[in-house]
Amino acid sequence: MLSELTGKLRYLAGIPAFLRETISPDEAREQVARDMAGQDQSFLCLAKAAIYTNPRSPYRRLLLSAGIEFDDLERMVHQLGLESAAVRLFEAGVYLTYEEFKGRRPVERNGVEFFVDQSGLKNPLLRSSVELRSSGGSGPRSLSVTSLEHVAHEAAYYALLLDAHAATHRPVAVWGPPSVWGLNSLLRYSKVAKTPSQFFTTTRLTSSGERLRAGLMLGYAFLAARLSGKRLPWPRFVPVDRGLTVARWLAEMKRRGTPALLDIPVSAAARIAIAAAEEGLDISGTVFRNGSEPLTPAKAAVIEAAGARVINVYASTEIGLCGLGCAAPVELDDLHLLTDKLVVRNQEKVIGNSSAVPALVYTTALTSARRVMLNVESGDYGRIEKRDCGCPLRSAGLATHVLGLRGYDKLTSAGVSFKGDDLYTLVEQLLPARFGGYPTDYQLVEQRGDSGSWSISILIAPSVGAVDEEAVGATVLEILSRNVRNGDPSIAAERSGQGQTLPVLRRAPYILSGRKTLPLHVLPGRSKAGVRSR
Ligand SMILES: [Zn+2]
Repeated sequence: MLSELTGKLRYLAGIPAFLRETISPDEAREQVARDMAGQDQSFLCLAKAAIYTNPRSPYRRLLLSAGIEFDDLERMVHQLGLESAAVRLFEAGVYLTYEEFKGRRPVERNGVEFFVDQSGLKNPLLRSSVELRSSGGSGPRSLSVTSLEHVAHEAAYYALLLDAHAATHRPVAVWGPPSVWGLNSLLRYSKVAKTPSQFFTTTRLTSSGERLRAGLMLGYAFLAARLSGKRLPWPRFVPVDRGLTVARWLAEMKRRGTPALLDIPVSAAARIAIAAAEEGLDISGTVFRNGSEPLTPAKAAVIEAAGARVINVYASTEIGLCGLGCAAPVELDDLHLLTDKLVVRNQEKVIGNSSAVPALVYTTALTSARRVMLNVESGDYGRIEKRDCGCPLRSAGLATHVLGLRGYDKLTSAGVSFKGDDLYTLVEQLLPARFGGYPTDYQLVEQRGDSGSWSISILIAPSVGAVDEEAVGATVLEILSRNVRNGDPSIAAERSGQGQTLPVLRRAPYILSGRKTLPLHVLPGRSKAGVRSR
């Protein structure tokens, strides 16, 4: 508790000094080269401090149960290099599946059995750390930490990214919750680009609880920035359904001849592009920085139609940035993996009733790691390939790409699991094409009942207008029935056999943590929103 408070105070006290120094693309390239060269050594340093001297570390238990002492690990890394050593460790049972890492299932290997304790994943080498809360999902909420060292380290990647995509000298805006997350975004951009000029917040600052604490931190950061001669924008409340307000600001930037960079998930970017088109606003030249959702063909088309483009990054709650969008992509979501901070491997994994996917398995290599990972399934999958794309990120030494990146956790629920882009295709392409509206107007919602039962309904935004709800229900049911897990009691199969349909609810799709919109949204329990059943 005390160390948490000390961490927070150090974080806040460090802000003025943090803002005084900026990072150029050249300095960022040097950072990557330095980290690559020192990777084996920094991993061993992390392993000593965060694994072998931490009795709560799950990796310590796995390593020791496999008979691997620190000296053995050191020899292995020196002889084979970290990448091959990670493979050897995996074969010896030193790994965590995604479910084990999240504490949803016990680890059972080499004669030991235990649940992962989240505190065993902490990195004691982080100094000014602040805890971030995950956006939920099932199982225990995972805590993640951030620090100014970490924000500075990540800022260097942004310097590379913005440079590669010619987006450094733009007005910057951030739209998201007024939290430490938002503050980190502001700080990061202040270090590499123009200091953000707008901070649109999806919730109001309130006078109690977590948001009060966040508000106090923001207030302090705001003053600290002034002291160091910088100006952070004060939060401006813009609810998630007011994309038009943000679109107007983007149009104003375009009119002034300086199109902006807006930090926002791609579904929100699509909603803004649609709002701008409907109002006749010109937001062409705008760049959206997307970090939390797959860039699907339907969303890309809507954004492109507005004359805007998307720069992708790939980040995870536990470890922060993992990949940067290629500037010469061969697919929509072609990313360079940050192989200076992460050792990444593909490992086949079977999800639900679908065929195996190439899961991404991570090992954190740097002493600045937010969470310690040693052969941990990330919850994402994608094809890893080495390619010389010729873009500036490749020249910076990042030679490994990941393609077709998706999170398997988000597309698997109690009764249904979807393969690849099936769910996105259904929600963003098939339904709008057949029943009208935009790719952002539909969402499937799963509700868990008290007895562990579940039901699926379909949300359609009221703006779509009159819709043959029965036909929508039947269409979705037909697709669902094809994806239902084998052997599971299934409402979909049952209903489809009886010629029934799924309930339709007319409301805007749910937005998670004030930012993300998933094609399948899981509600924790029966809510008063009430799903109309027939
Ligand atoms: Zn590239």
